[in-house]
Amino acid sequence: MKKGWLLMIIVLLLCGCEKDKSVVSYITTDKGLVSINYPVTNINVLDDKISAYVNRTYFEFKNMKSDKTPELNISYTYKEINSEVINVSLKSEIITDKTINKIKTFTYNKSNDKFLTMEDVVDDLGGLDYEIKKELLEKYQDADMDYLSNVSYDYFTIDDENLTLYFNPAEIKSKHDELIYLDIPLDSLKLLIDIDKQADNDTYLSIKKRNVSLDDKVVALTFDDGPSKYTDKILNILKKYNACGTFFLIGNKVEFYSDVLKRMLEEGSEIGNHSYDHKLLTRLSKEDFQEEINKTQEAIKKVTGFTPTLFRPTYGGYTNVLKSYTDLKFVLWDVDSRDWQVKSKDKILNNILPNVKSGSIVLMHDNHKYALDALEDILVNLKEQGYKFVTVSELLELKKLRESE
Ligand code: ZN
Repeated sequence: MKKGWLLMIIVLLLCGCEKDKSVVSYITTDKGLVSINYPVTNINVLDDKISAYVNRTYFEFKNMKSDKTPELNISYTYKEINSEVINVSLKSEIITDKTINKIKTFTYNKSNDKFLTMEDVVDDLGGLDYEIKKELLEKYQDADMDYLSNVSYDYFTIDDENLTLYFNPAEIKSKHDELIYLDIPLDSLKLLIDIDKQADNDTYLSIKKRNVSLDDKVVALTFDDGPSKYTDKILNILKKYNACGTFFLIGNKVEFYSDVLKRMLEEGSEIGNHSYDHKLLTRLSKEDFQEEINKTQEAIKKVTGFTPTLFRPTYGGYTNVLKSYTDLKFVLWDVDSRDWQVKSKDKILNNILPNVKSGSIVLMHDNHKYALDALEDILVNLKEQGYKFVTVSELLELKKLRESE
């Protein structure tokens, strides 16, 4: 009896370990433009803090008044610094008549259940204090020295090269509405924790080719705003029907779901770029827009070796000027499932099935379960109508071939 209990506890522990971490992605245009992405680490104390921050920020956003369309972007970084320490940052940008940027970071040690401060991470912080403030003043000349003397080093992230310190603009009375930050090269610091640098992953995955003739009826199913915990299930269904999709991914989630990305390519689906943080692009400068694209390209290439050629603008919003800032091909859609809005399988089917014609590009989303619930019926029905499923690149290639006939 006792042995049985012990076994059960061990089994439960093992299951607990294997529970995958995931990213929650909430994207809507119901009340303003909202793009919230945050990690679920399956460490309860950490997840509680993350969701508390997200909820508080969303609540603050909902209560703000604005003459222009309000926009909320919450993005994150997630880094396993070593096998025990995790660093998470949450950046929020609230755009109303003014713009408010904020950051929160957490550094958590799993082995002793403690949140780490800068003092736990960097040796002799006191000795660095003067250098840090001097550099901050050089970089942000409008920062107020009186306030600067009071700042604390509460917010920081660590990547393979830098320790980055962040300051909320209000904290140092800066007129900048952008986040204030300072990169400190790791080489120049004496660290109290080990940093596991990640080996570059150069896997190259080729896209599976399909047999499609010029006369075939073809349709491209596209999925935006993933990857998420639902994407694997979508791939299962696509595989069952020998179908494929084109997944327009949000760059900040790519590293979390590297296995899912590899699977997409291995099973003949395509990956496209849907920006890094899902901001409204028409509000960005050329540099910020290009950064949104390039960071996503790099993230996808890093985990798959594949470089996307397609781009889907967030909220479908773009201008010809924006298009001229990148070589990627902008891809919209002609059939909209409105899955995120109607939230019902029957309504999704009704939005898609009567409207598909040969050459259609169908818009769905894989950051929630609604499209997933309808997918099997969509595939069965379209197959019965004689459609073949192709990626967007294949569809565009076919259209070109047909025109040249
Ligand atoms: Zn989107």
